[in-house]
Amino acid sequence: MASKNLKFNTKTIHGGQQPDEAYGAVMPPIYQTSTYAQTTPGGHKGYQYSRSANPTRTALENSLASIEGGEFGLAFGSGLAAIDAVIKLLAPGDEVISTDDLYGGTYRIFKKIFEKFGVVFHFVGMQGADAVRDKINSKTKLIWVETPTNPMMNIIDIKAVAALTKGTDIMLAVDNTFATPYLQLPLELGADIVMHSATKYLGGHSDTVVGALVVKDKELADKLYFIQNASGAVCGPMDSFLVLRGIKTLHVRMQRHCENGRAIAEYLKSNPKIEKVYWPGFKDHPNHHIAKEQMKDFGGMISFVPKGGSYDDAIKIVEKLRVFTLAESLGGVESLAGHPASMTHASIPKEERLRSGVVDSLIRLSVGIEDVDDLIADLEQAIE
Ligand SMILES: *Cc1c(COP(=O)(O)O)cnc(C)c1O
Repeated sequence: MASKNLKFNTKTIHGGQQPDEAYGAVMPPIYQTSTYAQTTPGGHKGYQYSRSANPTRTALENSLASIEGGEFGLAFGSGLAAIDAVIKLLAPGDEVISTDDLYGGTYRIFKKIFEKFGVVFHFVGMQGADAVRDKINSKTKLIWVETPTNPMMNIIDIKAVAALTKGTDIMLAVDNTFATPYLQLPLELGADIVMHSATKYLGGHSDTVVGALVVKDKELADKLYFIQNASGAVCGPMDSFLVLRGIKTLHVRMQRHCENGRAIAEYLKSNPKIEKVYWPGFKDHPNHHIAKEQMKDFGGMISFVPKGGSYDDAIKIVEKLRVFTLAESLGGVESLAGHPASMTHASIPKEERLRSGVVDSLIRLSVGIEDVDDLIADLEQAIE
């Protein structure tokens, strides 16, 4: 469907989608096949081998492009496979400037895999664009932004960072996993590449691991497609189907994630046993004004530190939760709690972790779409 002029809440359901040509199936069939019959060598219907392309994956890729306001979508076997493809655009000696307060796995692939191949990474606090400008030199090829950041919920001004890349050959990539296109559209703000762990909010049901890239530029899309096909970390047909199904309710889920997130952030802030709550919707959040400008709402991701809390206190709280599940990941319909220092951010050296504020007692919540009274009662009993 020609979807350019549709509103977001319609694009999630119809963007880039047509009923299946074979039988008119309204939902894209799961084409669980590796290969496709040809009538004569090269005589096929656009599909030859499922690493190169698969109709269910195409349906997902078209949906991704539509909801992010891009032209081309690429679906990968995981968010990290999508990141891997972006860094493979680079050559030894090229430099990357990255957010310092970063998803642990992104930090790990940058430092432990690609540094070996001669790509140089600078990790910078990006709350001011000046810090980014200071690191730019003739070797800079990519700026990697994650906003809101994980787990500190800092907000980076995408437009201001994009302005630094204008008229240069530096690409700007934004990890939009936390915000989703419901809240923020990086391509509209000047980014060249949007990346997703579709495992999280896009899939939305904690039932699959998928990654995505969306771009506007054809040449960049061709290069990324070449890498995707050559390296092979593609998303399978069943997983493509699950994320497509998830995207259809993204806007209604996000609305509730945001409502529940606000109620829980305010509850935690008013609780005398809590030292600090990190959520960009607070007026006194240091980057609240940017969040208000570039995001539609503030999301359901919240981090907090119990008063006088230690590593063990944080562990006790997360173990006591009953409605929240103690688990890695985020963005599903169910509420999850995590302890970054021992879970998602354990692969980041302690000094670096502390420098960005990830103290031992920090707890991260992915607020789900359950009844918020039950969620607050659960936190209340665990914090007691
Ligand atoms: C989970 C996550 C990733 C990695 O995605 P996978 O699908 O787990 O490979 C990258 N960035 C952010 C912000 C994430 O939350």
